[in-house]
Order: sequence, then structure tokens, then C-alpha cells
Amino acid sequence: MKLVDTVIIGGGIVGLATALDLMHRQPGTKVLLLEKENHLAQHQTGRNSGVIHAGVYYAPGSLKARFCREGAAATRAFCLENGIPFQDCGKLIVATDEAELPRMEALFDRARANGIAIEKLTGAEARAREPAIAAVAALWSPATGIVDYAAVAAAMAKRFAEAGGEILLGEEVLDGREAASGVTLRTKKQAITAGKAVFCAGLHADRMACRMGLSPDFRIIPFRGEYFRILNQPADLVQTLIYPVPDPERPFLGVHLTRKMGGGFTVGPNAVLAAKREGYAKTDISVGDLAESLAWPGFWRMLGNNLRPAISELSGSLSRAAYLKKVQRYCGQISPGDLDPYRAGVRAQAVRRNGQLVDDFLFMESAHMLHVCNAPSPAATAAVPIAAHIVDRLLGAA
Ligand SMILES: Cc1cc2nc3c(=O)[nH]c(=O)nc-3n(C[C@H](O)[C@H](O)[C@H](O)COP(=O)(O)OP(=O)(O)OC[C@H]3O[C@@H](n4cnc5c(N)ncnc54)[C@H](O)[C@@H]3O)c2cc1C
Repeated sequence: MKLVDTVIIGGGIVGLATALDLMHRQPGTKVLLLEKENHLAQHQTGRNSGVIHAGVYYAPGSLKARFCREGAAATRAFCLENGIPFQDCGKLIVATDEAELPRMEALFDRARANGIAIEKLTGAEARAREPAIAAVAALWSPATGIVDYAAVAAAMAKRFAEAGGEILLGEEVLDGREAASGVTLRTKKQAITAGKAVFCAGLHADRMACRMGLSPDFRIIPFRGEYFRILNQPADLVQTLIYPVPDPERPFLGVHLTRKMGGGFTVGPNAVLAAKREGYAKTDISVGDLAESLAWPGFWRMLGNNLRPAISELSGSLSRAAYLKKVQRYCGQISPGDLDPYRAGVRAQAVRRNGQLVDDFLFMESAHMLHVCNAPSPAATAAVPIAAHIVDRLLGAA
């Protein structure tokens, strides 16, 4: 039986940032991080858009709004300290017809309420910045950037190990129990006892909570985000990131044109209901995962409330022409032959029993456990303040 002070489950950016923060605040204690894969950051952290979000979109007063703003600064500071490249390229949120202007205005007000630098541009001003982009008006967010979050996670792991932390790969936590003095976990290889356990299991957050004896009022519903790399276009196609004005019917930000750290561009992601939690290909199906989604009453309520967008996302996934239409609204010069399928990601989105998508970051606590239940975008940007929040709660400081 292995004995530690704190065990952290999940080697994505949230688990790693938490492990590192805890090690810094409690040097000399035994902190162990368990990851089921043989490499770190194989799921959401290694399969996202790589955007350092400024915090434009989130409800004022929410954890997302606060942690995103703080996290954007903390991510840049961590990158500078650790020699990780990032680019402050900024982003344009473009309205492509007059009907989108009221929503664009509302977004402007929200960004101001969140204390985010934001500027309104006329269509001509937007086109002067980005001649390849169609816009009747736009918002300019100068504080948006790009980074490779897998590189950030790798640097966090290195710093954690240097500070005396231990990482075990290929260690899937199966279940466990909470006792009066701490937590015992069973992995495929061994039993581990810890004073405290923090679960940062992303796509498996609900399962971990259930298998540890809690009764969460949500389930993780996986939404696959499919991307294409853009071929045959000039290296200066766009200088910034191009986002549509988000559709209020849809919970995600819309298919955007993103510069990549290594060069080139991608478009994506869409948001398709996935039949497997870690199902990165359209054909991936897990009978167990699917059965769990279908058995959750909230799944059917959510689907009932969002049937139109769900069908539209599915058709965009099955038909390249339908996908391209979304991109051509703002960048007409991209054609079907320019789209080359690129690595997909799957979002872990918590859905309540009543069918509501959990909007904010969500945590669940018991005497010796803290479960990160909902940490979708912008949790990569916000990982450092999320970690600080978790450690505050573990140490009784919050
Ligand atoms: C398509 C897409 C685009 C996105 N774009 C952005 C963006 O541009 N900017 C941004 O800020 N955010 C973005 N996000 C969100 C961001 O990637 C996630 O919020 C963030 O990576 C969550 O990190 P995590 O550590 O909670 O989860 P993950 O990275 O998924 O890590 C969870 C880890 O837990 C491990 N695990 C699970 N169960 C067990 C178990 N039983 N035992 C041991 N280990 C286990 C998994 O293997 C995994 O490594 C995007 C997400 C997606 C999917």
C-alpha cells in the first residue's frame, strides 16, 4: 500500500497546475499525481484550439470570468518563466450581417463588465486589419493569444517533479472510498492511501465522483470538436484569430480561424455529440459510454431543448460543404480543397438532470476529497487560478 499526503488524479493541465501549486505551498509533503495514459495531456489539454482567452464571453461575476482574466496573465507569466513560446496575436470577433450586431453589442458590454480590453471596429476598419475577412462590424480583443497547452502542461510536470512531486503514468484509478482519516484508491496496479484526493479527471469527472461514493447531479456529455488544417493559402492569410459572433442557441464559441504556434491555420471546432468519451474519430463508439449518456434524463432534456443546433452540428460533421459554409461566411477565399482533416478534441461538458448545461466551473467537496466536475473552455487558460482556488480550499484558506 502506497501512502501519501495528497493524491491528484488526472495529468491534464488542471491536475498538473494543482499539483505544482500544492508542492510550492507545502514543500516537503508527499504529493502524487496519477494519470491513466502512458503520457500526460493526451485528452482535452493536448487537443484544443490553443487560445489564451482574454475573458470576453463569460457571465460577469462567474468563476469563468474571474479565472479567465487572471489565468490569461498567469499563463503568459508561466510561459515567460519557463521559456515556452506564445503569441499575442489578438482576435477579431466578426459580425457578418446586420442581424448579428445586437449580439455583438451585448458581447462588447459583457467584455467591458469583465474588465477586458475591447474595441469596436467598423466593417472598413476590420477589413483594413484583415483584408481576407468579410465583416459588417467587429470587436477587437488585443489580449487574446495562442500557446501550445501540451507544452505548458509538460513544463508544469517538470517543475512539479523538480520540487519533489511524483507522477505515475499508466495508473488508472478504478474506484476507492473515503474514510474518517483520508481516502483509499484502487488503481489497476496497487492501492494508495492519501490524506486528501483531488480529482481532475476531465471526461471522467462524473464517473470518478460516483465511484468514490458521491451522488453528483450531473453527467459528463462528450462533445467532439472537429478541425481542419487550411492548405493552399498564403502564410499571411490572417494576422489575428477570427471568431464569429457566438450563436446564443449554442453553448460553444463557433467555428473559428486560428493561427497555430507551429505555423499555419486551422478552422474549427464544431460541437458534435460524441458516442464515446475519448472518441476522436467520427466512427468511434463505446457502447458503455453511449448507454451512460442515454440513461441520463438530462441528456434527453438537453437534446429536446437543442434539437436544431444538434442536427446542424451533425450535418456540418457529415458534410464538408456544410462545415465550409460556416467558415466562408467570414472568409470566402477558403474552398473545399483547402480543408485537410486535423486532430479532433472532445469537450467534457457537465449536464444537469434537468438538461441544463453547467455554464460555470463546478467543484464538489467532501471531508477529504475535491472533485473538479466541470472545467471546459477556458479552463486551459484558467488552469493556474483554478489550481490556486483548489489548493486554497484544500488548505482551508477559502
Ligand atoms: C476542442 C476543444 C477546444 C478547446 N479550446 C480551448 C482553448 O482554445 N483555450 C482554452 O483555454 N481552453 C480550451 N479548451 C478547453 C481545455 O482544453 C480544457 O478545459 C482543459 O484542457 C481541461 O483540462 P483538464 O486537466 O481538466 O482535463 P484533461 O486535459 O482532459 O485531463 C484529464 C486527465 O485525467 C485523466 N484521467 C481520467 N480518468 C482517470 C482515471 N480514472 N485515472 C487516472 N487518470 C484519469 C485523463 O487521462 C486525462 O489526462 C478546449 C477544449 C476542447 C476539447
